[in-house]
Amino acid sequence: MSGVVLKNSGIIACRRVLLATGGMSCRHTGSTGDGYQMARMLGHSIIEPRPALIPLLTGERWVKDLRGVALENVRVRVAIGGRWAEQQGELLFTHFGLSGPAIINISSFLSRNAAFPLEIKIDLLPHFSEEQLTGRLYACMEHNRGKYLKNALAGLLPQKLVPPLLEKAGLNQQKQVDQASRKDIEKLVQTIKNLSVNISGFRPINEAIISSGGIDTKEINPSTLESKKIKGLYFAGEIIDVDALTGGYNLQIAFSSGYLSGASAAK
Ligand SMILES: Cc1cc2nc3c(=O)[nH]c(=O)nc-3n(C[C@H](O)[C@H](O)[C@H](O)COP(=O)(O)OP(=O)(O)OC[C@H]3O[C@@H](n4cnc5c(N)ncnc54)[C@H](O)[C@@H]3O)c2cc1C
Repeated sequence: MSGVVLKNSGIIACRRVLLATGGMSCRHTGSTGDGYQMARMLGHSIIEPRPALIPLLTGERWVKDLRGVALENVRVRVAIGGRWAEQQGELLFTHFGLSGPAIINISSFLSRNAAFPLEIKIDLLPHFSEEQLTGRLYACMEHNRGKYLKNALAGLLPQKLVPPLLEKAGLNQQKQVDQASRKDIEKLVQTIKNLSVNISGFRPINEAIISSGGIDTKEINPSTLESKKIKGLYFAGEIIDVDALTGGYNLQIAFSSGYLSGASAAK
């Protein structure tokens, strides 16, 4: 490393350079992904940057009709390569699909591995086991004799969610509590615990909290964060192929890698 050539052909002579240009989400902050191109020109491999920590899109009408409805505590699950990824927390229905902390976090698992379309399963009442929920529904029916099923369920779930839920369970909106069979209760339990939404993709990468992918970690010395390809070149932050869930971990990656690479470069 002998220096940096600027766009205007100016040269900054130096023996160490630290590349910390971030990912490619939130372009208005200046993180446009041009650092990946610089690293590529210097011979580094770039794992394809993709949106991570990002809301999800669906074409399902009932989801969009629920826009603005927030569920405080749900469990979302998605099958990736024969395994289930799972997150629990708040979920928000929007005009384009699903958002909220539980969705944003599960998108991180999809970022590297997912092929769309895919199915996401939502457990609307994760604090109840299937058995407990069955008991709870029977108690609810007992308490609401003579009422419509959809009105009886409104005590358990947000009212706007009940009609699409009944439809998914294959139950008539006009069904009365007294007409509900054991089979109907079983269908309701299965639908509440495994509400399925077909996901068609991510929101654009510019809206992501972070980008996954970046400089291949195999090409970076983990003790100093110096390039294994070019002596005197260091990396820090989101430009490296490391990312995490929400909770401050991504900032911590930036802080810690910035400290290590800076201290190593200054030695
Ligand atoms: C809306 C939002 C909320 C977030 N909330 C959280 C959170 O709560 N917790 C958490 O852990 N993480 C959060 N993150 C992620 C976190 O901010 C990033 O992971 C972290 O900032 C990455 O740090 P970085 O220094 O690698 O890159 P950046 O912070 O992106 O900084 C890169 C800098 O390089 C500059 N740059 C880029 N290209 C060039 C160039 N060619 N020449 C000169 N300068 C250039 C950019 O202008 C920018 O200033 C959030 C991100 C967003 C977008």
